[in-house]
Amino acid sequence: MIRTAMAAAAAALGLASAARAVPPPPPITFVQVGRVMLDPASGRVDTAKTLVIKGDGRIAEVRDGYVADPGGRVIDLKDSFVLPGLIDCHVHLTSETNPNQNVERFTKTKADLALDGAYFAKKTLEAGFTTVADLGAPNESIFALRAATASGRLAGPRILAAGSAISAHGGHGDANDMPDELVRIYRAPTICSGADECRRATREQVRSGADLIKVLATGGVLSRTNAGLNQQLTDEELKAIVQAAHSMGRIVTAHAHGADGINAFLRAGGDSIEHGTYLDPEGVRLMKQNGAYLIPTLMAGDYVAKIANGPGNFFTPAVAAKAREAGPKMLGMVSRAHAAGVKIAFGTDTGVSRHGDNAYEFVLLVRAGLSPLEAIQAATVRAADHLRISEDAGALTPGHSADLIAVKGDPLQDVSLLQHVSFVMKAGAVYKD
Ligand SMILES: [Zn+2]
Repeated sequence: MIRTAMAAAAAALGLASAARAVPPPPPITFVQVGRVMLDPASGRVDTAKTLVIKGDGRIAEVRDGYVADPGGRVIDLKDSFVLPGLIDCHVHLTSETNPNQNVERFTKTKADLALDGAYFAKKTLEAGFTTVADLGAPNESIFALRAATASGRLAGPRILAAGSAISAHGGHGDANDMPDELVRIYRAPTICSGADECRRATREQVRSGADLIKVLATGGVLSRTNAGLNQQLTDEELKAIVQAAHSMGRIVTAHAHGADGINAFLRAGGDSIEHGTYLDPEGVRLMKQNGAYLIPTLMAGDYVAKIANGPGNFFTPAVAAKAREAGPKMLGMVSRAHAAGVKIAFGTDTGVSRHGDNAYEFVLLVRAGLSPLEAIQAATVRAADHLRISEDAGALTPGHSADLIAVKGDPLQDVSLLQHVSFVMKAGAVYKD
């Protein structure tokens, strides 16, 4: 209602509406595909099909054989294997780990971060990821980037953004390792203590524009503090956060390493676990009971351990110690969770590792015991289910957004082929050819 009133007011004032900035829709398009996985849930591969895409950027129908109508645009992918656009449920588009990152905390503005994000968003899309969930960035930077990619003016994936994460005072998300007088300037408004403050921080995030809520339930590897990886928000705080988010129609996903924090968050009714490093049998039981998703982010564990153990290690001693401790545990954790039947959605924590490398996670998931098809499902239908966007993304059946990628060869035989995507379309527009 408020939106309608605002739109009416904007129209009365002659202001350009957001919708007017969207480029004109493409003409009717016929994508002729040699092999295609229309619905990864079934895993079935069809041959010689034509996807018909209308001006609204959605799949209108799938026809047998290679067809086209006069006047339509034809895209020839007869030599390719076509899949739904990939979904990464855990990225940080406005940053990337580098030796200057500590200085950049003080030298870069939120506008700088948004523009860095524009560069990284393009790399992400060209790597075949047509949808991402950004799980931690300043609100101003990531919400602006989300709007710019949604309008089609900027090349980038569809972005669901959590914005600033809810975290405890002194916790993983606080302004750690800086003088007290600077903490007052750099501390995010989502740092809270006590159920009331945390509930308020969650509500404020929804008001500011968060699509989903990210909570830092435990300590984290890359925060510049030696506060460990255990539970940091109390049971009461976690309950308040989950209740506030759910009551306003938002899912809540928790960054969680320690088993105490994983289990407290799941008991509070949380929806999904990022990382899950020390997942224990009780955590597995709770995840299955709740139907919660695990987003493993194997790439993050792999990448930070490589830096901490490498010749060019630039981490502080506290960060390096956490990276060496947590990194190597993640692959075995995913193997156990997968064997136990925990639902897995694809997420990389890219921004820790390099933007555009996201598909390396497929290789690690298969190393952890998933079949190539299960890994593809994690990045399509399962990710879409986790993010509540199944009607738009994750499959290429009629009605879905025309988000599709192509590779040469068969990713069901060699999942590493997904690191070399040759064609990318998002909402009917071609971004890589
Ligand atoms: Zn993260």
